[in-house]
Order: sequence, then C-alpha cells, then structure tokens
Amino acid sequence: MARHTEALCRLCRREGMKLFLKGDRCVTEKCAFSRRPYIPGMHHEAQRKKISEYGRQLREKQKVKRIYGVLERQFRRYFEEANRRPGGTGENLLKILETRLDNVIHRSGFTTSRREARKLVAHGHARINGKKVDIPSYEVKAGDKISLSEKALNLESVKKSISEAFKKRTVPTWIEMNFEKREAAIKNAPARTDITIPVQEQLIVELYSK
Ligand code: SF4
Repeated sequence: MARHTEALCRLCRREGMKLFLKGDRCVTEKCAFSRRPYIPGMHHEAQRKKISEYGRQLREKQKVKRIYGVLERQFRRYFEEANRRPGGTGENLLKILETRLDNVIHRSGFTTSRREARKLVAHGHARINGKKVDIPSYEVKAGDKISLSEKALNLESVKKSISEAFKKRTVPTWIEMNFEKREAAIKNAPARTDITIPVQEQLIVELYSK
C-alpha cells in the first residue's frame, strides 16, 4: 500500500491549505494549519516571493496527489490513462481519482478521512457487490454496491462517521447511500461539478505536457 511517511499536517502547511487528511481532527482547533498557516521551516518574508508558472503547476499536482494519497508513479499512470480516454484529460484525471474505492468509501460517509478508508480496504473490510476487494485504487463504476464487513461497521469510528454523514447530508449526489442498510450504490460517474476539492486541473495537464 502506498504511504506518505511525512507528517500529514506538514503536507497541509506546505500546500498552504487544509487538505483534510486527518478526519475529525481537521475540523477542531487542534488543526495544525489553523494554528500555523505557513510553510514549515520558511520565514514569512520568503513565502511572499512570487511563485513561477512551473511552481504553480507543480504545487497543484502535489496538492491533488496528497489529497487522494497517491504517489508519483501511480499518479503519472492515472494521467496517462486520463489522456487516453475521450474528453478533457484534466477532468478525466479527477474522475479516475474520485472513483477510487478508498475515496468512495470516504465520500459515502463510512470514514472521516480517505486515509482511514484506505486502511479498511487494505485490511480486507471493503465489499463490492458482496465480494471482498482489498485494492484501495480499485475503480468503481455505475451500478456497484459498496459496503464494509460487519466487523468494520461495528467500529466506533465508522458508526460515528456514518451518523455524522446522515445528519449533515455530506454524501455527493452520484452516490446513493442507504443509511439503514449501510450500503452505498454508485448511481453514475461523478461530473466535474461533483468534485469539490479546490483544484485547477489544467495546471497539472500543462505540467505533464511539457
Ligand atoms: Fe491538515 Fe487535518 Fe492536520 Fe489540519 S489537522 S493540518 S487539515 S491534516
């Protein structure tokens, strides 16, 4: 399983924004970015320097990789696949990332972070159409039904997350979450407007097209 070994909060500070990598903690006053919203190890003056076009493109790519927890080689493979598919490459790239199994489990409300979802999948707790799938990058498609093992559904963190998602209605419209059965159904592929992370995907396309 691909893992980032750097402290997660440093990644947010490096990108200059909250990437919501730690679930519940990200919305509390303990959030490191809320307390120190500047790049680790840099003086504030240095951070005000104008960033080059290449720098902007690079930062955009790093931001998306970090949000979805994907390492460089896999991200590059996603880009190539996005380029092969009909339609805009940048939009295709985001759609591929958004339909990763770990992301879908998180977006359906089973977990408060993608990282937690990835762990559940890697430990064999994810079910697609009733069958175990332990590949976090598995690409779900319309008609798939996603759930978790009974053991995972009984975890306090999962129960709490599902209850919050139900209360706050945080599940996107391309996923139909049955809160009673604790099962998510993929209604259709996500549209660009369903992907709410603040990203300018065109910058990533420009970076890889050099
Ligand atoms: Fe980022 Fe969450 Fe850490 Fe805040 S608590 S800095 S949002 S990972």
